[in-house]
Amino acid sequence: MKNKFIVLGILFASFGVCQMNAQINLGEKAIGALQKGVTSFTLTNADAAKLSKEAVDKMDAEHEVAGPNDGYTLRLNRLFGKHTAGEGYTLNYKVYKLKEVNAFATADGSVRVYSGLMDIMDDNELLAVIGHEIGHVANNDSRDAMRAAYQKEALIDGVSSQSATVSTVTDSQLGKIGSAMIDSKHSRKQEAEADLFSYDFMKKNGYNVNAEESAFRILAKMSEGTEASFLDKMMSSHPDSKQRAEDAKKRAEKDGVYKAYVQQKIVNTVPAAKAKTKKKTTTKKK
Ligand SMILES: [Zn+2]
Repeated sequence: MKNKFIVLGILFASFGVCQMNAQINLGEKAIGALQKGVTSFTLTNADAAKLSKEAVDKMDAEHEVAGPNDGYTLRLNRLFGKHTAGEGYTLNYKVYKLKEVNAFATADGSVRVYSGLMDIMDDNELLAVIGHEIGHVANNDSRDAMRAAYQKEALIDGVSSQSATVSTVTDSQLGKIGSAMIDSKHSRKQEAEADLFSYDFMKKNGYNVNAEESAFRILAKMSEGTEASFLDKMMSSHPDSKQRAEDAKKRAEKDGVYKAYVQQKIVNTVPAAKAKTKKKTTTKKK
């Protein structure tokens, strides 16, 4: 059971930044939320969020999460910290110390960024990815994915829409629902809309919009690598990174601001000044 969580290295290449494979068993607490969903068949927004949170809490417990003084966390604080509240959503974020190049968002507004992604993206590129994930939450894609997963599982197992019996929902069903939720295969349209959201997010905040194209170029390069399998190429439901890079470029051209992006230095270590201050920490007056 230790290997409940499986991430395939090739995943990112095939689906993009919001994709991962995981198998999770939600805890007892989630049953309450799920049961409520069973009685009304369709999960309410609140239930979808609650169930998502249970899943994320479980994942957080099972992964190495970067601590508050970790360089990755400090970098994400600096970049993401000011963007956690928006119209109709509140976000929280954490770094998973995993080599995989990945990031995902769930219906409760949790965004998880893998250190592997932060290793290859500079600040602006990372902001473009963050903007994309925020887009999924803001557009309710994450919630819809949660709902779809729940409904599918309920239908497969013949859970009656009127049933209020807890026992009809097994731990394994919960696991499957959670897994599917985190797996969230968004539609091509949803991905395109999240990309557009990201572009607007970059523009609105005065970031270099050309970094979005650059981020997708990096991903495109990765998918061309040896890790890209035959299966990846067959997976046509997700727009490929090359096309998404082109779309981002076109948007920048339309705005008259296009300029091939040059990647900046990537620093995931604790800034020297900060590290020094930390050592010298003195007792506060009261
Ligand atoms: Zn996405």
